[in-house]
Amino acid sequence: MSRLVDPHGGTLVDRFVPADEVEGLRHRAESLPQITLDAREQADLELIATGAASPLVGFLGAEDYRSVLERLRLADGTVWPLPFTLAVDDATRDALRGASEAALGDSNGRVWGVLRIEDVYTRDPLVESRAVYGTEDPAHPGVAYLLGRPRTLVGGTVRVLPLPELPFARYRLTPRELRREIAARGWQRVAGFQTRNPIHRAHEHLTKVALEVTDGLVLHPLVGETKGDDVPASARFQAYEALVAGYYPKDRTILAAFPAAMRYAGPREALFHALARKNYGITHLLVGRDHAGVGKYYGPFDAHAMFDRFTPAELGVTPIKLDAAFFCKACGSLASTRTCPHDAADRLELSGTRVREILRSGGDLPREFTRVEVAEVLRAHYAASAPAAAPSPVSVPVSVPVSVSEPIQPVASATAPPALFPVFLKLSGRRVVVVGAGPVAASKIKSVLDTGAQVTVIAPEVAPELERPDLTLVRRAFRPADLDGAWLVVAAAPPEVNREVRAAAEQRGVFVNAVDNPETCSAYAGGVLTRGGVTVAVSSNGEAPALAGLLREALETVLPEDLERWLVEARAQRKKWRAEGVPMKKRRPLLLQALNELYAETPQ
Ligand SMILES: [Zn+2]
Repeated sequence: MSRLVDPHGGTLVDRFVPADEVEGLRHRAESLPQITLDAREQADLELIATGAASPLVGFLGAEDYRSVLERLRLADGTVWPLPFTLAVDDATRDALRGASEAALGDSNGRVWGVLRIEDVYTRDPLVESRAVYGTEDPAHPGVAYLLGRPRTLVGGTVRVLPLPELPFARYRLTPRELRREIAARGWQRVAGFQTRNPIHRAHEHLTKVALEVTDGLVLHPLVGETKGDDVPASARFQAYEALVAGYYPKDRTILAAFPAAMRYAGPREALFHALARKNYGITHLLVGRDHAGVGKYYGPFDAHAMFDRFTPAELGVTPIKLDAAFFCKACGSLASTRTCPHDAADRLELSGTRVREILRSGGDLPREFTRVEVAEVLRAHYAASAPAAAPSPVSVPVSVPVSVSEPIQPVASATAPPALFPVFLKLSGRRVVVVGAGPVAASKIKSVLDTGAQVTVIAPEVAPELERPDLTLVRRAFRPADLDGAWLVVAAAPPEVNREVRAAAEQRGVFVNAVDNPETCSAYAGGVLTRGGVTVAVSSNGEAPALAGLLREALETVLPEDLERWLVEARAQRKKWRAEGVPMKKRRPLLLQALNELYAETPQ
């Protein structure tokens, strides 16, 4: 049995009511005035109840609140960086007058627990913003949140009913449950990794650096509320599962969910992340560049410096301070400025925005940047959530806790692909095979069906919405013989299957359109615009589908509305020229003249 790290403040808090008091409390809550919690307060309540926010036993009263803002400590001196507050609107404040308790409910009317009202006070959102976020800028998501909340705060201890079934229940280990798991494995030095983003190779590298010098690693992704443009927890979890299954030693790694909401408070939140992790039995938290940051509000190492303001005994948890990692082409490995002597030009770096752009357009991330399994999950997420139209400008800058850094580098290989010879294929009645049945495949299937092709879909699992009479579904893994008699194959399966498809297609002389990798394509699906019997296609050789989409839209605005009339006129002229034997070189000026005459007669 290992000796676990002490909880923060010495005692692991448990604010759940004992089983035999649940009914009584539920009953009593019905007669109490109700306070409705928002998502963050709900997350805070869960952290308090489970002991993740030990030593807190409820929402802060005025004395603790001011102390936390001014000196990062509770009134009793315990280090505590974030104000866990409960805000009420004026009507609720009035309803609470004279009451000693209030029911805590969510917006669905579900009661979560009961608060003993010990303090009612007022906050100044700008004072809190400056103290916690170091800014009053309403563009900061934390400041924006504060400005949108009521100023009246209620403090007091809570008693909490059993939690409802929450997302990621399987991974939502309470501090007690995680401590038990760590003890059972006999770990002494336990590294924790906080993340709210998908884990790219850079993050994987850093967690493994930690795993080299500790007994075990807890991947502890945050699953509470984040800003709208962060990847949702559901998609991230699929990616974590895939990553852990393939690349981490099972007996030395635990994947668990951290139910906190994201505040983007940078250094203060980094400190909170560490103290809360101590309650879970974690002894060392990885603190990356601009940990819990957003935009440019904090310096890259402000979060590191925050830990230096306290003694190791006061903290009781050790930060592993890290710089951003990257893949260095000169080193031929993952590295950081601490280990690599080469220039930034040698680094393979992609901004979060660029990563989203590539994945949204169905493109492939370099293997050195993201594991294939992770890219696959993310691509499916973006394909399902992306508007088909042009990418919207990104307003909130992305920040990855253990950074994947700023400069935008082209992902394309250095050598340009050979020029394409465009061909319009008449697919009507022809056999087209689509391998894969994910969201990307679904969108391809739709455009191929529009051409009148006979489409066969081959995939072990097929989404119900693909069950339609004009599709032939084959529910199994791909076999090379599936391509016999096909004209075109769309490879929209995981990359290793796509490579197999490509090999089988080469043997049979079938065109391949691979959605993930332009290099394995022999056919590129262009952005197609058809108007009045004229078809225009745009292709970026598969390197930048989003750009092709933008150009297609631009062309749409410049192509004349009445192209159909032009086509009718051109057909009539052609017939005449043939009958009269008009030589080729005279035909174009004649057509131009004829088209102009169409408009000469039309009064403006
Ligand atoms: Zn290097």
